[in-house]
Amino acid sequence: MDIQTEIENLRQELHEHNYNYYVLDSPEISDYDFDMKLKKLQELEDQYPEYRDANSPTMRVGGEVTKNFKTTVHDFPMYSLSNSYSKEDLEDWYVRIKKNIEEEVNFTCELKYDGASISLTYENGEFLRAVTRGDGTQGDEVTNNVKTIPSVPLKLNGDGFPKRFDIRGEIVLPHEGFAKLNAERVENGEEPYANPRNTASGSLKLQDSAEVAKRPLLCLLYNITGENLKIETQFESLEKARNWGFNVPKEAKLAKNMDEVLAYINYWDEHRHDLPYETDGVVVKVNNLQQQEELGHTAKSPRWAMAYKFKAEQVSTLLESISYQVGRTGAITPVANLKPVQLAGTTVKRASLHNADQIEKLDVREGDTVFVEKGGEIIPKIIAVDFTQRDPDSEPTNYIENCPECDTPLERKEGEALHFCPNSDGCPPQIIGRIQHFISRKAMDIEGLGGETVALLVREDLIEDYADLYILKKEDVLPLERMAEKSAENLINGIQASKSVPFERVLFGLGIRYVGETVAKKLAKHYKSIDVLESASFEDLIEVDEIGERIARSVVDFFSDETNRNRIDRLRDYGLQLEISEDELTNQSEKLKDLTIVISGVFEKKSRKEIQKLIEDHGGKNTSSISKKTDYLVAGENMGPSKLTKAENLEVQIISETEFLEMIGVE
Ligand code: AMP
Ligand code: ZN
Repeated sequence: MDIQTEIENLRQELHEHNYNYYVLDSPEISDYDFDMKLKKLQELEDQYPEYRDANSPTMRVGGEVTKNFKTTVHDFPMYSLSNSYSKEDLEDWYVRIKKNIEEEVNFTCELKYDGASISLTYENGEFLRAVTRGDGTQGDEVTNNVKTIPSVPLKLNGDGFPKRFDIRGEIVLPHEGFAKLNAERVENGEEPYANPRNTASGSLKLQDSAEVAKRPLLCLLYNITGENLKIETQFESLEKARNWGFNVPKEAKLAKNMDEVLAYINYWDEHRHDLPYETDGVVVKVNNLQQQEELGHTAKSPRWAMAYKFKAEQVSTLLESISYQVGRTGAITPVANLKPVQLAGTTVKRASLHNADQIEKLDVREGDTVFVEKGGEIIPKIIAVDFTQRDPDSEPTNYIENCPECDTPLERKEGEALHFCPNSDGCPPQIIGRIQHFISRKAMDIEGLGGETVALLVREDLIEDYADLYILKKEDVLPLERMAEKSAENLINGIQASKSVPFERVLFGLGIRYVGETVAKKLAKHYKSIDVLESASFEDLIEVDEIGERIARSVVDFFSDETNRNRIDRLRDYGLQLEISEDELTNQSEKLKDLTIVISGVFEKKSRKEIQKLIEDHGGKNTSSISKKTDYLVAGENMGPSKLTKAENLEVQIISETEFLEMIGVE
């Protein structure tokens, strides 16, 4: 078999497995086997770049950065939907339809997915572009980001599809993925996202598609648009789309008349919480496309479709008390303790009150009867007070002024919604939370030490901050409850072993507010050592790629605190990595600063990956295709002839591997 066929077969195989997994939900091979095949393909593509393909399964990992999303005009406008809120509204709609259409009218009933609308264009069975709805006429092209979503097919199955068409759908963030994403944010000291819908649409506008790839987004499709489609009904179009490889939810149903439509609505009003994603209603569409055409559009929406919005699920219950929680970063969250009540299939005992403004806005008081609603949030929220039930003697809620854990007066920064306990070194949940963060998997990952043990060590006065971990001795911990000889030994060894954890993870572990894993990496790479980072000014910090004012301010604040600086000095004394290692450092320079470089072909001394890393380490930028902006083409063996011609035409400097290595002074 020649290489090209091998590559194409692998791609085809991976497309099929991807479809089985993400669309049919019935994988045929293990994740491991899938990863191995993908890796194999990646290697072949690296080795034979002439067979590159923008729709290869390897493109899913992302990495393309879009600074400005291009405004793109839709081939066919994206309409909005008329809304109805009652059965009567729907009946009226039916009467209007029947005035125009004499024959029998059937309907397709679908769920109304609550996410961000998207239009995907396919040409010759290949994914071409993705554009947001925008104002309906034109939207933003977000192709690189959408490509990372595994349920979006990059190549279609079979051959029955139109030559070019648009398919519309909704990109949603299922509950499970949303909860996981938020857990990570809280872990990083960031405020959790409010709901899956906004998070899904926000994700589409991230600049770095590798970040989008990390978000468990799902693309659900519901409408095919184009010319010469050779499709007769809406229901048929859904089945076809499913066969071509799109994720079209099976919940869609054909209804012969209004009674069947209403039955569908009733069923899903009750069962919608069993779905893995949010829906906020049902969309009813005239099934016959010929009839749809006769009915036409208003300026805003089609006359042949109607959305029915579910009423948000609500219950009322007694607010027994308001309590306040203190997080690792000192942020205070007010929590409503409710008389347990059934809501959307679960028992609800607590609801979030967000912050002081929210309490004031709702005017909630202990002893009130409140309406609780469950939307996309994991924790339900209080939406209003039932004032008819209020005790006339009740008093407005006074937001606490002192920390419930350490009694320190709370602070609230200008423009921030949350109150903070500033006593970061004396407030137990902050002390414990900070150390728990320090030892967590993505930070120091200390073997043999868990969150519970940290809390115990603090309570027993054995440690007060993370630096204290490094002077713990076996004898200190042995007396602790349930601490055997062996586990004490493992604990101490685990702590000592963490001294070799690389700088970027130590930096993340310090728990600087807003400095999550990715930001820590960026800062470590840019500043190279904690000393340089410590002396960086606000102005300096915001110059770094992707570091905004909020992060810069937080970093400056952190280092201006003497306690933090002392703690870092101690970590240095104990031998932790507070700078990028010698090895990494000596291999970095600015020699290729501001240069855009394309590599092509196979190399003799280094692998393609190594050359790409060298370019980055020396401040250059790797791109995959040659353009006017390309400064150098590093040409290896077997380079595609078309690349060479293009480089020559654009007068791009072509250099050999040896010349490249000489440029950066590497043997
Ligand atoms: P609205 O934003 O309330 O005007 O509702 C219209 C939007 O509902 C459309 O732009 C779609 O993004 C979305 N939608 C969700 N599910 C469906 C569906 N099954 N059929 C049509 N539109 C849907
Ligand atoms: Zn406190």
